[in-house]
Amino acid sequence: MKLYELTIHKAHRLLKEKQISSRELTRAVLDRIDAVEEKVGAYITVVDQEAMAQAKLADKAISEGNISPLTGIPLSIKDLICTRGIRTTCASKILENFMPPYDATVIKKIKESGAVVVGKVNMDEFAMGSSTENSGLQVTRNPWDLTRIPGGSSGGSAASVAADMCLGSLGSDTGGSIRQPASHCGVVGMKPTYGRVSRFGLVAYASSLDQIGPLTKDVTDCAILMNAVSGYDHRDSTSVSKDVPDYTEALKEGLKGVTVGIPREYNSTNGLDADVLSAVKNAVKVIEGSGAECVEVSLPHTEYAVAAYYLIACSEASSNLARYDGVRYGLRDKDAKTLLQMYNGTRSKGFGPEVQRRIILGTYALSAGYYDAYYGKASQVRTLIMEDFKKAFETCDVLLSPVTPTPAFGIGEKIDDPLTMYLSDIFTLSANLAGIPGMSVPCGFSSQGLPIGLQLMGKHFDEEKLLTVAYNFEQATDFQERKPELWNGD
Ligand code: GLN
Repeated sequence: MKLYELTIHKAHRLLKEKQISSRELTRAVLDRIDAVEEKVGAYITVVDQEAMAQAKLADKAISEGNISPLTGIPLSIKDLICTRGIRTTCASKILENFMPPYDATVIKKIKESGAVVVGKVNMDEFAMGSSTENSGLQVTRNPWDLTRIPGGSSGGSAASVAADMCLGSLGSDTGGSIRQPASHCGVVGMKPTYGRVSRFGLVAYASSLDQIGPLTKDVTDCAILMNAVSGYDHRDSTSVSKDVPDYTEALKEGLKGVTVGIPREYNSTNGLDADVLSAVKNAVKVIEGSGAECVEVSLPHTEYAVAAYYLIACSEASSNLARYDGVRYGLRDKDAKTLLQMYNGTRSKGFGPEVQRRIILGTYALSAGYYDAYYGKASQVRTLIMEDFKKAFETCDVLLSPVTPTPAFGIGEKIDDPLTMYLSDIFTLSANLAGIPGMSVPCGFSSQGLPIGLQLMGKHFDEEKLLTVAYNFEQATDFQERKPELWNGD
């Protein structure tokens, strides 16, 4: 096995036994990036020298007997998580040269654990999208088929993990942006409970929905990264002061006594691909075979989730993105003669078409006279969706569903049709509206060889149950062992 193919936990064992050094491992990952980045296009910024310097420090710590599960492990970071001294672009022209003067709390935490940041990865501009095609900077391709999208918005994170260009990644999920690309790229992704992980230093898209989480090669690695990034932070007023369990303990539990709910509405959704449906049905059988009980549940307000989500997300985005005015930081239109021209010029040149569309939609939804009809109504629907989950969790511990209605689609296929793109988020949005944790774990391949993910959703702060179910499922199957062959589409 090549060093870059290792999972975090396997690399940790080799580092601990001093069979490999972090410098060797990091070099192998950087060489892998050199070899395949031209095809995949996952990285916006690679920091070779800083990574090798961090690896050297990690090796020193290991030689002194200081090793944590992340010491010396090369990771990629979605380019909307602030990294001190490393450009953080949000894949937007408006922040193309933004150099954060501080580290996000999650970065501080993984650095304290000794992890090695190898670079910043591509995404939809300001995390708005489901394909990474809205990046203002570059195209990222799905390592399983280079003519297709990797999913989004954390497409660079998912592609970099799938193509072995890092051992794991941190992404963000506002309406599915960790789970959906994880599903399309055949990796594991978790959106934690809202408040579990600090958002300090995460560039805001929709603050009541955004959450940072891991994308990894397997479920064990997901638990390891969750251990590293979870916990209260006084710098994020919405982070919750609640003890962080050792998530790897959840991997030791079996499925006896676990009840899995299958939402009736999810499996009868229009446009649900036959391969996705059969992979999910097969997953139900595997999970039952491992000892869990499966029951049907109902989430009756599912059909309103897309409308409610896009009203709330765009409204919050229109407010959050007001700060990019060319005055304080980021791009400035230097040709403008007046202040108003400067605002207009900066925002027209700096934001791409999808971001502009959402700012306009959100500003409209929040405007006097329309607020109650749009934002107010959407907030009421959000409460109904939360109540659906509360009720469903009276009869089950975990919910199981597809992550996306179809496997990865072709680059360019849906980009001119924003509504179709929005509708493809149907299965993932509700978890964000309700603030509950959600996860994607590989559960099969389409007839064309494209990965399919299984979504698990749980009660607030019950990430452990998701990890237990996902781990047992992973043990009973071998989907995560298949690797993409990177010559497709050449
Ligand atoms: N696709 C959804 C959107 O465009 C979700 C994005 C995300 O989770 N950041 O808003």
